[in-house]
Amino acid sequence: MVILMLGAQGTGKGTVAGLLSESLGWPQISTGDIFRKNIKEETPLGIEANQYISKGQLVPDEITVPMVVDRLNEPDAQAGAILDGFPRNIAQAEKLDEILAEKGKKVDLVINLTSPKDEIIERILNRRVCSNQACKTTYNLTMHPPVKEGICDKCGAELVQRQDDSDEQAIKNRLDIYDEKTLPLVEFYDKKGVLCTEEISEKTGRLGKDVADDILKKINQ
Ligand code: AMP
Repeated sequence: MVILMLGAQGTGKGTVAGLLSESLGWPQISTGDIFRKNIKEETPLGIEANQYISKGQLVPDEITVPMVVDRLNEPDAQAGAILDGFPRNIAQAEKLDEILAEKGKKVDLVINLTSPKDEIIERILNRRVCSNQACKTTYNLTMHPPVKEGICDKCGAELVQRQDDSDEQAIKNRLDIYDEKTLPLVEFYDKKGVLCTEEISEKTGRLGKDVADDILKKINQ
C-alpha cells in the first residue's frame, strides 16, 4: 500500500507519517530527510540540493525523482511505504504514478493535512528534531517539549533546529511555494478519489496522534 502525506510545512506531516510508519511497519520516506542526510555528509547530491533548500526553494525534479525511485526500489519499501514530502508538484505526481504502475502499484491513500497559518509559523520556529538519523523524532518547544532540554526522550541524542526552520523569510518562501506548486495536488488526488483531508490545530485540540489513530482504524477496517 502506498500512502502519501500532503500539507504545508509545519502541519504535522512528519509526526503523522512517523506514527503510521511505526504502527504499520512500512518506511517513512521523507525526501527532506534524505536531502538533509546528504547535506550533512557533504555528498555531491547534498551540496547541489542545499543550494535550493537553504533558500526555501524546491530541488529540481531531475535530482529529486531519481532519488525517490532508488528509495522505492529498496526491499523494505515493497510491502508498503509512506511518502512524506513527495510529490511536491503535478509533474512529480505524474511521474510517481508511472513509477508505481511499472510495479503494478498505485497511490492508495493521500492524507492532506491543514492547519491555521499562524499555528504553522509558530510550530516551524519551535520545531526541534533528533539529530540521530535512525530516530529523527520531532519535538515542539511549546506543544511537545522533550523532558530534558535539548535531548531526545527516545534515544538521548542532541536535538537540533533544521537550518531552513530558523529563517523566517525561508519559511515564508516555502509556504508560498506550497500554495503555488503543491496545493494543486489536492485537486489532482481528490479527482482520483483517494484524498482524506484532516485539520490539525491546537485550537480544536485535534493533534497528529488523533489523526494517525483514525487513519489506522480506517486502514485496518
Ligand atoms: P521538508 O523536510 O519536506 O520540509 O523538505 C525540506 C526541503 O527539501 C524543501 O523545502 C525543499 O527545498 C526540499 N524538498 C523536499 N522534498 C522535495 C520534493 N519532493 N521536491 C523538491 N524539493 C523537495
